[in-house]
Amino acid sequence: METVLSGIRPTGNLHLGNYFGAVQSFIKLQHEYNCFFFIADWHSLTTHPKPENIRKSAKTILAEYLACGIDPEKATIYVQSDVHEVLELYLYLNMNAYLGELERVTSFKEKVRQQPDNINAGLLTYPTLMAADIIIHKANKVPVGKDQEQNMEMARKFARRFNTMYGVEYFPEPASFHLSEKAVKVPGLDGSGKMGKSEGNAIYLVDDEKTIKKKVMKAVTDAGPTEPNSEKSEPIANLFTMLEIVSSKETYDYFNEKYNDCSIRYGDLKKQLAEDINAFCTPIREHILEISADDAYMNKVARIGAEKATESASKTIREVREIIGFRP
Ligand code: AMP
Repeated sequence: METVLSGIRPTGNLHLGNYFGAVQSFIKLQHEYNCFFFIADWHSLTTHPKPENIRKSAKTILAEYLACGIDPEKATIYVQSDVHEVLELYLYLNMNAYLGELERVTSFKEKVRQQPDNINAGLLTYPTLMAADIIIHKANKVPVGKDQEQNMEMARKFARRFNTMYGVEYFPEPASFHLSEKAVKVPGLDGSGKMGKSEGNAIYLVDDEKTIKKKVMKAVTDAGPTEPNSEKSEPIANLFTMLEIVSSKETYDYFNEKYNDCSIRYGDLKKQLAEDINAFCTPIREHILEISADDAYMNKVARIGAEKATESASKTIREVREIIGFRP
């Protein structure tokens, strides 16, 4: 059976971008593949979080994974820092990763611009740690959003390089996985770009009804269509993308027609969108609150996940050590 792996950094709550870009696939794939879903707490160290936040955030994501419907009986859910073997593979991959190629990664260049006072080596080697996360379980498929494409390219490159270097066919080349034909990009409702924590435009699964309504009603719009069937501006196209993601086809078609015959009232569209986002988020939010209160359950899930992930990772490390020339 093929293996699927993916992770999310615990730097806050899960938002609709995380859900529709990644978690939705996790829920479906857990029934069909050998799945590993992890909480990428080592990755989050690049921004120097405080110890109390690290502990709290990992628990938050774990509760949210479970509330969304990831089933610990089906998939292995674990915290990255519980599986030390990943660090050993990270070291091996770093020995064969070159400064030039790491410096050319777009997300690294973005970070250099965003945080010029904190361009640490962890940021530079983010792609090798991500590759180690993936190939330590010999994953074949990695459900990720469109923004991770280049890091996935790097993971494939490092897997191939290891195989070539040692003349083995050991690591499979991991492929990005998207539920639909094209990768989902959940837009922000602030006029442009994607929804994200660092973009400050996220709608979180745990947001209450009033907060969601407020965020949606604040969405950027334009002066409205003046000619039938005109092209939508970016903020309006983004609202329609959100409708496409969370509302029924009838609702989408209804507002699309209204847009095309210039009778649309953006206020009505936003009200409907807020209602549909709430209908989606409310049961998840209630479940998150329930699970977050059950420390014993979460600890048990994390402990069992750590054991299963460690078993898989240590098998790989034993074999890799032997391939490299160390004692297994
Ligand atoms: P991050 O929150 O950046 O750690 O991302 C975790 C996962 O969510 C990755 O697989 C991303 O590709 C996905 N993701 C984050 N934001 C979006 C978005 N706006 N649209 C689609 N996928 C997203």
